[in-house]
Amino acid sequence: MISPDKQYEADTNLYNPSEIEKKWQSIWTENNLYKTDELTENSDKFYALSMFPYPSGNLHMGHVRNYVITDLIARFQRFKGKSVLHPMGWDAFGLPAENAAIERGISPSVWTKKNISHMKSQLKLLGLSVDWDREFATCDENYYIWTQYLFLELYKAGLVYQKESEVNWDPIDNTVLANEQVDSEGKSWRSGAVVEKKLLKQWFLRITNYADELLKDLEKLDNWPERVKIMQDNWIGKSIGANINFNINTNPEKKITVFTTRPDTLFGVTYLAISVNHSLIKKITDQETIQDIENLKQYLKNNKNNELEKIGIKTSLIAINPVNSEPIPIWVASYVLDEYGTGAVMGVPAHDLRDFEFAKKNNIDIKQVIVKDKSEQSKELDNAYLENGYLINSNQYNGIANTIAKLKISEEGVNNGWAENKIQYRLRDWLISRQRYWGCPIPIVNCKKCGAVPLNQSDLPVSLPKDIEISANKINALGDNNNWINTTCPKCGIAARKETDTMDTFMCSSWYFLRYPSSKCSTKPFEKNEINKWLPVDQYVGGVEHAILHLLYARFFTKALRDNELFDIDEPFKKLLTQGMVQAAAYKNNKTGKYVSPSDITDLSNPTDPIDNSKLEVLFEKMSKSKYNGIDPESVIKKYGADTARMFILFKAPPEKDLEWGDTDVEGQFRFLSRIWKLYINCAKDINSKSNSYPDKEKSLIKSMNIAIKEISNDILNNQFNTAISELMKFYNSLSNSINDVNNNLKIDALKTFCILLAPFAPHIAEEIWHLIGFKKSVHLEHWPSFNADALKEDSYELVIQVNGKVRDKVNINNDMSEDQIKELTLKRPNILKWTQDKEIRKIIIVKGKIMNIVV
Ligand SMILES: [Zn+2]
Repeated sequence: MISPDKQYEADTNLYNPSEIEKKWQSIWTENNLYKTDELTENSDKFYALSMFPYPSGNLHMGHVRNYVITDLIARFQRFKGKSVLHPMGWDAFGLPAENAAIERGISPSVWTKKNISHMKSQLKLLGLSVDWDREFATCDENYYIWTQYLFLELYKAGLVYQKESEVNWDPIDNTVLANEQVDSEGKSWRSGAVVEKKLLKQWFLRITNYADELLKDLEKLDNWPERVKIMQDNWIGKSIGANINFNINTNPEKKITVFTTRPDTLFGVTYLAISVNHSLIKKITDQETIQDIENLKQYLKNNKNNELEKIGIKTSLIAINPVNSEPIPIWVASYVLDEYGTGAVMGVPAHDLRDFEFAKKNNIDIKQVIVKDKSEQSKELDNAYLENGYLINSNQYNGIANTIAKLKISEEGVNNGWAENKIQYRLRDWLISRQRYWGCPIPIVNCKKCGAVPLNQSDLPVSLPKDIEISANKINALGDNNNWINTTCPKCGIAARKETDTMDTFMCSSWYFLRYPSSKCSTKPFEKNEINKWLPVDQYVGGVEHAILHLLYARFFTKALRDNELFDIDEPFKKLLTQGMVQAAAYKNNKTGKYVSPSDITDLSNPTDPIDNSKLEVLFEKMSKSKYNGIDPESVIKKYGADTARMFILFKAPPEKDLEWGDTDVEGQFRFLSRIWKLYINCAKDINSKSNSYPDKEKSLIKSMNIAIKEISNDILNNQFNTAISELMKFYNSLSNSINDVNNNLKIDALKTFCILLAPFAPHIAEEIWHLIGFKKSVHLEHWPSFNADALKEDSYELVIQVNGKVRDKVNINNDMSEDQIKELTLKRPNILKWTQDKEIRKIIIVKGKIMNIVV
């Protein structure tokens, strides 16, 4: 595959990675080495995918780690003969592009494209085996047309709806703010105004329709990290319980419904708590209470984490407990959320920590209804009793185990019409509306006559206008763009306006992995048969920060589109690896709380702050500009080469663990690669001259070669890349010790095998030394070697010798020795003679390979 003029001439002893890497990257590209194979019926496929990056402008070490891990796995699978799909793309919509537009007066599209091209050039320096022909960015019109298409698919399936929902509203700039634009004091990041909540009509996806399947199918994901599954499980938050209806004493027509997972504690209810927006509040007539509630409402608007505070307002409303007709006061409580359940909960202070705290603070009765032992009576509790036990103070249920009472009380309620069995989820529907310009337009037209009308799929795309003006005062530039906004209604044909909300960028990333198998398809988002062939993704690699939202949304999309018969798969990602962070030393002044740049520190072994001379603490923290501990991948590659950077990242820590940057370890990997380089330069000089042949050296080289093949293969399959590199180092040591003392065939075989084993880790140097020793085709087109189990067998073993059951000696025995030979060798050993001399040997038992027992 290499034209002769590009052949390497071995004229240097110095390992010069930048030359080598540049050369091979361009040859690989020219030869389209990493093009994805067409899949046939018989091909064995492997889809390796990294979470695609946001084009912020600069590649950081976290990216490098992510892509190097995926690349190693992709290369290994290719060596193993699989047809590999290893694509890359860009998650390219989002807020920073608009901020850049405001700050620098550059259009979001231009800014994004510039970043993509810069980051792509940086990515290419890493020598990734990516099929760049399949690249796309989610902001490309020929991508987002299909995001819109899929939105309409979900619409058809009844999974899209519009509802009024609260947004953050900046009353000075007259604009909607994203959550991250509201500071911890509830003020706008730009105008400084106190942010208001405003009700706006917004678009939602009915992800809750899939709550149960999303939860249940977690069980199928055997190769996902347990902690990710737990996080998804908690986020979905399934609870099994009942809705209980309480009558209101002043108004028997009106009921208040609460959801509880603990009907067994119903006799212990001493108050009901409702949210500040609950509909019952309209029934309150007392002006003072109304004012208090209004104040609390304002307070909650301006204070995040308010549910931590147990603020309560007692109302004059009284509910009737359906189990015993007792009157129960109704409180307005800060911790009750409108969106969860019915906006009302029952208070059982004796058996719930939060309720206990609330009752103590507000002087509410505490009534114990569960005790540990049947004989126990209620007593004053120091805290809520949360264990299982037996019911007391519960009329006909007294003495019954609470787990059984739970079912019996629900049953009574269902029979008498005041309870309904209910499963509730913590998961909310997904709000996808963003009042922003730089996002995928929602394909809806607002008509005065027909309301919100979806476009026909054949009328797509709704393109983003190019002639926009983004300024600090109007974030939602689409709403002000008259050229763009006016259209006609697809249903009745009268003048109408386009929807100005754009989609949450998580929409774009919820299906991108479906696009890669048929990324050039121009008639639909993807080819069904390509999806069925390539999906699920065999190995997905990315940060644990996406453990909840992105992965849940992607799973939801997959299931919803499957139900629209767009393909047949249930789950998008078979195996998931969440890589740890990349950390580096940061220097912190604990007095001032400030970080000091290492370049301002005179002595890094004894760091002090140049300003106040106080001693600095050295902390390993995630690389960031604000902590002055970021390391630029490009500068590392410039200094040591991409192969060293790759080796370091893979060697320093197991992939799921955090990795601490250390210059000496980077240099260590560079030296290792330099030694490999030297060995091959020397071997290449006289590769065909006849060499010495020492059988013991040959035997030992064959053995270490086979161990390396076996261990490295297993390690890569188990994502233990660090130990794989250790094995590679051992093999290198054996190779360099014996290479001049083995026959020519073995020499070539061992050099060749080492190259292939090195190739997924350090692809450039592996390719170079491969050609140095005379091969013409790329090493990356080779097959992964398999090991010879015979070569791993030991030719001798350690025999333990016992006399009358006690260990007296150990001796090395060749595999081929007979029992007689073993006896002859062992019986005259001094350690044995000591115990057998002058005694009659009655019996000798030999278990070959293990043990010999002499009975005297
Ligand atoms: Zn209309």
